[in-house]
Amino acid sequence: MATTMKNLSVLGATGSIGVNVLNVARSYPDLYGIKYLSAHSQADLLIEQALEFSPKAVCIGDSGHYDKVNKALPGTEVLQGRSGLLELAGRDDVHTMVNALVGSAGMEPTIRSIQAGVDIALSNKESLVMAGDFINGLLKKHEVNLFPVDSEHSAIWQCLVGESTEDIKRLVVTGSGGPFRTLPVESFANITVAQALKHPNWAMGRKITIDSATMMNKGLEVIEAHWLFHLPAHKIDIVVHPQSIIHSMVEFLDGSVKAQLGIPDMKIPIQYALSYPRHLKQDWEQLDLAKVGTLTFEEPDLKKFRCIQLAFDALEAGGSVPVVLNVANEESVYRFLNGEISFNTIPKLITNAIDAHEFIEHPNLDDILALEQWTQAFIKRS
Ligand code: MG
Repeated sequence: MATTMKNLSVLGATGSIGVNVLNVARSYPDLYGIKYLSAHSQADLLIEQALEFSPKAVCIGDSGHYDKVNKALPGTEVLQGRSGLLELAGRDDVHTMVNALVGSAGMEPTIRSIQAGVDIALSNKESLVMAGDFINGLLKKHEVNLFPVDSEHSAIWQCLVGESTEDIKRLVVTGSGGPFRTLPVESFANITVAQALKHPNWAMGRKITIDSATMMNKGLEVIEAHWLFHLPAHKIDIVVHPQSIIHSMVEFLDGSVKAQLGIPDMKIPIQYALSYPRHLKQDWEQLDLAKVGTLTFEEPDLKKFRCIQLAFDALEAGGSVPVVLNVANEESVYRFLNGEISFNTIPKLITNAIDAHEFIEHPNLDDILALEQWTQAFIKRS
């Protein structure tokens, strides 16, 4: 095999993406070594992972679990808290950092890792939504690669292998439409947390599952695609594709369209981000198109799923607006999950935060971090 051994740092190792990263690593022990692991609060799973993969260091975000982790892993360096996570993200003795952290908390680790000269496999789309311009500048400066893990962006990336960016007419980001695709908008106020957490095709964490239900996830992915593939908002479209078999498409100037297909399983884009440009053998479930039978497509309903339009508007407005959009969304989602606000209040709170904030045309990292705090406080008191 032409691929050489890579040492990985996996941040957010106990979440749904992190666990699948380790599933991929487990199947190719000669290709992937695990040097660092971090978890927020799932101490038992982190310990179990560390005992299996023998990393050099781990970080437990919630300091309340530090003693337990430290006692269970003698001989392993154990870091804790936000500062421990940032320190781990800044270590330069790994080949690739997999950022599987949830939400805006993942942005600074992305930046630390680039500054350390370490390639990134990025699942944390919020990094690019909040600081895409800043991160692209850093990638260039430090000559670091950033590979998408998000299935849509992995699909576009795969469609673009061997192609010229100047030949692209548009990107078509597909989305399942989530659990409320056919629910009348009049019923949105009564959507329960349990209903919103039932995604038809993908098994994911709680935050992204709610983002899929509001379709903000698709909006965030449009912004992510803008920074990854350097195309303006009007050249990025969303098509609803309920079967989640086509993971996205690229249309070229001659009318040719390339699509990437597969079963909806994050292990495929995760492995590609680690094995690029190779597609390494796996025995997991394979796509059987005859069994799938029908692939259907429809326009997204922007009146029903207001978060999509908010995201397009934020990308168009630029500057600090996507920062506020992202953080306001995240905080609103947590308030919804806590039973504090209704499902259809989420886009209202995001709109209020964007309207109330003081616009910054070119936010630097300090501006972004200050805006994050401002927006969190704004949504908490809304
Ligand atoms: Mg996605």
